[in-house]
Parts: sequence; C-alpha cells; structure tokens
Amino acid sequence: MTNVYDNILGLIGNTPLIKLNQVTKDIPATVYAKLESYNPGHSTKDRIALHIIESAEKKGLLKPDSVVVETTSGNTGFSLAMVCIIKGYKCILAVSDKTKPEKIAYLKALGATVFVCPANVAADDPRSYYEVAKRIASETPNSIYINQYFNELNIDAHYQTTGPEIWEQTQGKITHLVACTGTGGTLTGSAKYLKEQNPDIQIIGVDADGSILKTYHETGKIDKTQIHPYQIEGMGKNLIPSALLFEKVDRFIKVNDEMSAYRTREIALKEAIMGGYTTGAAVQGLIQYTNINPLKETDVVVVIFPDHGSRYITKVYSDKWMAEQGFVNNCFHNYEEVFKT
Ligand code: PMP
Repeated sequence: MTNVYDNILGLIGNTPLIKLNQVTKDIPATVYAKLESYNPGHSTKDRIALHIIESAEKKGLLKPDSVVVETTSGNTGFSLAMVCIIKGYKCILAVSDKTKPEKIAYLKALGATVFVCPANVAADDPRSYYEVAKRIASETPNSIYINQYFNELNIDAHYQTTGPEIWEQTQGKITHLVACTGTGGTLTGSAKYLKEQNPDIQIIGVDADGSILKTYHETGKIDKTQIHPYQIEGMGKNLIPSALLFEKVDRFIKVNDEMSAYRTREIALKEAIMGGYTTGAAVQGLIQYTNINPLKETDVVVVIFPDHGSRYITKVYSDKWMAEQGFVNNCFHNYEEVFKT
C-alpha cells in the first residue's frame, strides 16, 4: 500500500522541492524552494522534535507518561506537542507573556501544558521562561529538556534527513543552499551533509537586522550594540547557539523586516506559495546575495521555506499590520512598482 501510515509522524520529512518561476526570475540560476510546510506540523521543526525524542527513547530516558520540556512559543512547540501525543508523553512548554493567545490555544489544542512567564525579566531570573523550563525539567523525574539552541541532535536531525533529501532531489547538482538561521540546525545540519558530498557547495545563512549572528561569523565577536527588537520570528539571535556550526557557513546576509515582509507577500502572489515570514526573509537573502555574487545559469539553488503562512495571517498577511509598521500601504495592488527598485 502506498501513502498509508501508522500515524501522523510517518509524514515527517521527504518534503517537496518546488521550482520558483517568478520571484527569482532575474537570477539566471535554477532556484528551488524546499517546502517544509509539507511536514504534518507544518514546519521544519517536526524533524528535530521526532529525532530528539526518538534519540532519548533509544537511550532509555523516556517511559510512558514521561515529560518533554522546552522553551518555545513557536514551531518547535507545535512539533513537540504533536510527537508527544502519538508517543504518549506529556509536553510542557514555557513561553513568554508576549506570545499571542492564538498560539497558546494552538499548543493547548495539541495537549501541551503551557506556562506563561514574564518577558521583561533577565534570562537568569527564576521567573524567566528559560529558568522555569530548566526547573521543571530538573524537578520532574523521567523528563527531558529539548534545549534546541544547544542540542547537537538538532544538527543531527538535518544531517540525517534534510541534507540527504536535498542531495537526492537535485541529483547532486545543488550549488547553493540558502536558509534563515535561528538555532542554525536547519542550515548547518544540512550543510554538514552536503559539504561532505561536495565541499564546493556554497552555504548562505540569512540573519535578521537586530541579531548578532552575521557579525559573530565574520569577526568572532559578540557585538551587543547590534541587538534591537525586530518583527521576524524564528530567525536571528542575541546569543550564540552551539547548534549553529559557523564553520559550515560561507557567507551570512542580513535582511530587514520590511523587505522580508514584501517578499513574503510577493511569493504568495506570484508563486501561490503561502510561506511564513522567514520564507520571504530567505528569498530576500538570496536576492541580496546575488547582488554581490552573481549566479550562473548552471547554478542550482535550494532555499529552505521553513513554515506555512497560515501562522501569519494577522501579521505579514494583514494589510492593517503592514500599514501599522509603516510599510507601503496597499503595495500589493501595485507591487511591480514597489519591487522595481
Ligand atoms: N524560520 C522559522 C519560522 C522558524 O521557526 C525557525 C526556527 N527557529 C527558523 C526559520 C530557523 O530554523 P533553525 O532554528 O533550524 O535555524
């Protein structure tokens, strides 16, 4: 029987590559999007949730009714909650009080217990979501703390799945991989595998304006003056994650909220792909990269599209929200004009 699975987890991975025909038409190379929204939890994080939990099972760390703990209000939370339901574990997530109510409802609908913690306290304050999660994990017998920013199994999940899939799907022809970096797991886990097959493959990380990752890659220094709030969720960081293998990255590109937002909307309008905000950021990163490093017709680029746009309807897909940010009002009725510069 084909396309029949024992449970929803059977659908994780093996996501499709879709050729981009419009948004990157000024780039001579062939550009593919790897559509991670095709995972059953609608993001790339399904891969790490499954891999980290199954690795803990193999080590005998989890028993029925064990507890899986993480600090996230984002995609990792949705994926962990999904895996925990199927495997019979309890999922506890510590989130900040800035988290939107619909996200908390989503996590609770998937059976997670959600602790809402104050956002405006230091990371080492006992009330912070980091400290709350750590305390729950240390006080609860048979629990594991996912700790995705500092867990090498995050890298390993992509080394074992995303990287090999991209290599096979492009029949070894890939020349450039582009992905936004949050923990760094998606980009550098895939890169580790791809560089083993062909060390010439160029690995391009996309960082957010307001994050320190690009400068750290270039100087080895943490420049705190670069830290400022920004709107794109899931990428960029104000600390250095060990899940980001900096030595695998050839170049970082920084993108801003505004251009990433336009690009997300443009992808929906021209390719009919509803991606999340970092989908636009990744394509914007590629376009900025090609302004510095022109690509050839024979080049084959894969851009990771990390999650689905349905999570951003009240944000980047809302004209009201766009106007509130001061982004060009109604630009999508005349987007050719907006993008001609
Ligand atoms: N985009 C989105 C929407 C995400 O949630 C994440 C994960 N934080 C990323 C991109 C970056 O992925 P990674 O953590 O593997 O670098």
